Amino acid sequence: MLEKLKGNRLYSILRYKCPRCHEGDFFVTKKNYDLKNFIKNHETCSHCGLRYEREVGFFFGAMFVSYALSVAFAVAIGVAVLVLFPSASYKVYIAAILIGLVVLSPLAYRLSRLIWLNLFYHNEGDKKEVNNK
Ligand SMILES: [Zn+2]
Repeated sequence: MLEKLKGNRLYSILRYKCPRCHEGDFFVTKKNYDLKNFIKNHETCSHCGLRYEREVGFFFGAMFVSYALSVAFAVAIGVAVLVLFPSASYKVYIAAILIGLVVLSPLAYRLSRLIWLNLFYHNEGDKKEVNNK
């Protein structure tokens, strides 16, 4: 299903692929919950050689994306609790949101880095198509 998105930024973000060539892997492991390694990323793309960290502290900006993602996750969890348990007390909301955010934090971390990278790089396939027209 995601193969249809190749060339689109969503493909790079959701598959953790290099934002420029969509071929090389960004992270060392594909598993979000490999708690020892989920945080490790390659320094350069194995396919096109793109250096992921453009400058020292480049991924500092991904923290803001991660914050936005976490707020979105919290709202989604809150709405899910509201729909599934309409008479739940505020303690259930707080517990569900806190547990949900802890469980989803590796996902937020990884997605935020790819979203941040994709703000600065785009797929070369897009460029070629534009030039050919
Ligand atoms: Zn690449």
